[in-house]
Amino acid sequence: MAFEELLEDPVIQKYLHELVGPKGMPVAAAPPDGEVTDEELAEELGLELNDVRRALFILYENDLASYRRLRDEDSGWLTYLWTFEYDKIPEQLEEEMYRLLDALEDREQYEHDNEFYLCEVCGIRFEFDEAMDFGFECPECGSPVDAMENTALVQAMEERIDALRDELNVEQETEA
Ligand SMILES: [Zn+2]
Repeated sequence: MAFEELLEDPVIQKYLHELVGPKGMPVAAAPPDGEVTDEELAEELGLELNDVRRALFILYENDLASYRRLRDEDSGWLTYLWTFEYDKIPEQLEEEMYRLLDALEDREQYEHDNEFYLCEVCGIRFEFDEAMDFGFECPECGSPVDAMENTALVQAMEERIDALRDELNVEQETEA
């Protein structure tokens, strides 16, 4: 897939934005063909060199860019020549989504398996065992804690999980 085509995908834009942040986005969103130096990018995009370097390093850490170093024979200065490797993005996005799905499933299970109590004064939530240990009184303010319905939260999580499974073509787990 061509870089341009990849970058039109809002999911990929969001992914890059989360990685490099708003300041790094001009760098991440304009991958040149072939090698480029950080100075060239800074000049071309009208950005601070530090912001460009920071964005490049984040891309590098996420396997989305690589570099090779050249030493100038005369000055001894090192030049970094960067190559963007966005062909790995779809694969990495998918891994990211699997991680998110796992985390959501664990969280949903936890919400599903536990009863919660809330101190409405402090906005602190306790698990049943905790609430019982505290005699169903908030340890912070002494107010009685109330049983808290988390059905809406669980339902929202289930919808998100279903949507992710759908997107990843993961079979629906059968509820025990
Ligand atoms: Zn309280």
